[in-house]
This record gives sequence, structure tokens and C-alpha cells, in this order.
Amino acid sequence: MGYETLMHGFQTIIEPFRIKSVEPLRITSAEERLGKLKQAGYNLFALHSDDVMVDLLTDSGTGAMSSEQWAAIQRGDESYAGSPSFYRFEAAVKALFDFKHVIPTHQGRAAEKILFSVVGGPGKVVPNNTHFDTTRANIEFTKATAVDLVIPEGKQPSVYHPFKGNMDLAALERCITEHGRDKIPMVMVTITNNSGGGQPVSLENLRGVRAICDKYELPLFLDGCRFAENAWFIREREPGQGERSVTEIVKEIGSLADGMTMSAKKDGLANIGGWLALDDDAWALKCRNLLILTEGFPTYGGLAGRDLDAIAQGLQEVVRHDYLMYRIRSTQYVGEGLLKLGVPIVEPTGGHAVYIDARALLPHIPPLQYPGQALATALYEEGGVRGCEIGTVMFGLKPDGTEAPAAMDLVRLAIPRRTYTQSHMDFVIEVMGRVMKRAKSLKGFQIIEQPPALRHFSAKFAPLL
Ligand SMILES: *Cc1c(COP(=O)(O)O)cnc(C)c1O
Repeated sequence: MGYETLMHGFQTIIEPFRIKSVEPLRITSAEERLGKLKQAGYNLFALHSDDVMVDLLTDSGTGAMSSEQWAAIQRGDESYAGSPSFYRFEAAVKALFDFKHVIPTHQGRAAEKILFSVVGGPGKVVPNNTHFDTTRANIEFTKATAVDLVIPEGKQPSVYHPFKGNMDLAALERCITEHGRDKIPMVMVTITNNSGGGQPVSLENLRGVRAICDKYELPLFLDGCRFAENAWFIREREPGQGERSVTEIVKEIGSLADGMTMSAKKDGLANIGGWLALDDDAWALKCRNLLILTEGFPTYGGLAGRDLDAIAQGLQEVVRHDYLMYRIRSTQYVGEGLLKLGVPIVEPTGGHAVYIDARALLPHIPPLQYPGQALATALYEEGGVRGCEIGTVMFGLKPDGTEAPAAMDLVRLAIPRRTYTQSHMDFVIEVMGRVMKRAKSLKGFQIIEQPPALRHFSAKFAPLL
């Protein structure tokens, strides 16, 4: 009997693991945190992470590995060429995604860089539901154009849709006919749609994308970073999928595509790694040649043998139903806790993060005074919780130096995998409750120093009085 059946009727979501090795958290005072904030120019990226109590900056590479993964680390074989660690890694990837070529890389963006160096270039257009920022940057670096075609519901924070990450199929077909199929090297779909709130894509939608790709003879690639979380949502929400195993669903997703890029720092349950997988022999040859220039020999691709083994084991664990049920439920739990306090969030909660609508919460702070920054710094000052502004600080500065409000001002609380307990999440909710009580008194910010691009990483802020 599965975990779901066994746990049916219980209110408490128990973590389906116990803890063997602990990392102490340093408990700090509000006064100390305010001092750290000032030193950091109110930029949470400039904090030392041991001054953070609950770190929800990202779910990338921040998860806890299992005892079996640590055992696999010991098994890692550091041979330069033909290591058994590579063959275990390759077999684990192929057990889920049966692509002919599996090319390891040190992260997802390295896979993107190599892929788009081969298939991108001036005049090319790559449609996606929503490109993740590194994907977009790697496409644009080749002077190609990255186009986002998520369904309209995907852009409205408070509108419920079970698959808010879906591609707008009519818009995709228009994009292909407008530009001409020869300009389009591939269609991509990001599962789950990270930049759109960690929202899933349905199997039906993926089949629809596949049909359009077949009609115009275009390859379909997945940005598969959160494939297991996406498959769990399909199992839970898509009619007729509830009896299937996640592995079966993942295999079907893979069978609809011609290749994928992957960051193993997400659903690889590892702290580093990624891969590029594809069927096309000619593309794979070119990709491997580039891999050797920057990443390494094709049987390790920028990773140690031990990393490959950690990923191979992680891929077996990430599709387990007990893990996924706990993962998705515990993210929803945070969303439900915040909703009970009256906090406006993007609904439904995604797989890996809860997004707070700071613009709705702090209507007295105009977007150009950065309500997301005000909320994110207040969460840190109040309880040492570090989230990430995803709004006008991140997207408001245009290449010509002008500034405009972003579409939304959100604060993302990304939840590392298997790292925090439910009581940590209760604490986060309590901290948010305290911030809610003084929401009206929170002040906006001005930027006093910033670089010309990607300013969120290094800008310095001053609070407005
Ligand atoms: C994290 C991520 C990437 C990039 O992977 P890295 O390992 O950080 O380089 C690409 N796409 C999506 C959807 C991601 O979440």
C-alpha cells in the first residue's frame, strides 16, 4: 500500500524521512538583523547565509541529500573517461527519459549554452511557455529571439487554473506561421513553469504542442528542471491520470519530446549538476564537441564522478510518491497558512515555491518604490527569513537605462527539498503574520547604486522616510 493510502485521513503531513545529520541554525536578534541589512545595503543577496535563519532564496541546489545519496558519493569513480559513475547516471536518466544521447553538464545553464550555440543564432526564434531567465539569456546571447506563450491565466495571480503553465496553442501556431518554420529551430516547454510561479503543464497540453510540432516538423525540447513535481500535479489534477505512477507519466512526457535540458539542482535532488539529452545524432555530435571546450570529456561533463552518482540515486528518489506527496503538500501548506492570514498569494501554489503578491499587500508603496523589496527585507528583519524579490527590482530596469514597473511585484518563498521541517514553515507563517500587522507602516526604497544589468544581485538600497 502506498504512502497516500496509508496517510489518508491524517491532518499532519509527516516528512517521509528522519534526520541523521543536523546543521545548527544561528538564532539572531531583530536588532542584529537590522544591522546586517544596513551593511548589505538592504540587498538580501549581499547577506552572509549564516545570518539567515530560514533561507527561502531558492530551491536550486539547496536540498538535503539522502543517506543513499551520500553512500553513492562514496561509490563515485573519478576516472577521466568511461567511469562507471557515468554509466549509472546515464542509465538513471534513460530509465525516465529515453533519449539517445545523454550529455552531463555542471548545471542546467551549461546545457542551454551548448544547445543554443548549436541551434540558435541571428534571426532564429524559440517559443516556450515561459523561458527561465538563463534560458532566455542564452538564446539572446546568440542573437536569437526568445518568445513566451503561456496561456493568459498564467499571468493573472489570483485566477485559479489547474495547469497555469500550459502553452497557448493558438499563439504557438501563430508564432510558427508568422515567422516561418525555418526560423524556428525548436519549440520548448518548461515543466513546471518556474518564472510563471512553478505552475504545471498538463499532458493534454504537451500532446497538443507535440501535434503542432509534428504538423510543422519541428523538434520539441523540454526544460525539465521540475519534471517530477509536474508529473505529480498531472497525477493529481488531470482527468484519467490518478491511477498511474509518476514514473509512467514522466516516461510519457519524455516520449512526446525530442530532447531536454535539465538542472539536477532541482528534481535531480543533487547540489550540483545537469544534463542535455537529445535524439538527433548530428546535433549531439556538435554539442559534445562544444562540451569538451568548456565542460569536459563527455563521460563527466564538468562534474565529479561522485556528483554523477548522487544524481543517479536522486533520480530514483524524486519520483517516489511518498516524497512527491510530502513535497507538494508541504508547499501548499505554506500557501494555506498565508491565505488564512489574508496574505495575497499567486494561486494555486506551485510545486517549489509560494509567491506573495507584494503590490496587493502594500498598495501604499508604488511599484517604483519597490514593494517587493520592502516586504522581503521586512521578512528578514522580523524573523531572519530570506525570500527573493521578483518584481520591479528584478525586471524594472530597461537596457536604455529607463525604469518601468514590472508586470507584478512578487516575493518568492522557494522551499529547498527535504531541508526544513513543518515547524520551520509554521515559523515562516508566524513571521509573515507579524509583518502583516505592521504592513501599513512599511516604507518603500530608493536605489542608490546599481549596475547596468541584472541589478537585483548587487544594487544598494536606502529606505524612504
Ligand atoms: C534553475 C533553472 C534553470 C537553470 O539551471 P541552473 O542549474 O541554475 O543553471 C533553467 N530552467 C529552469 C526552469 C530552472 O528552474
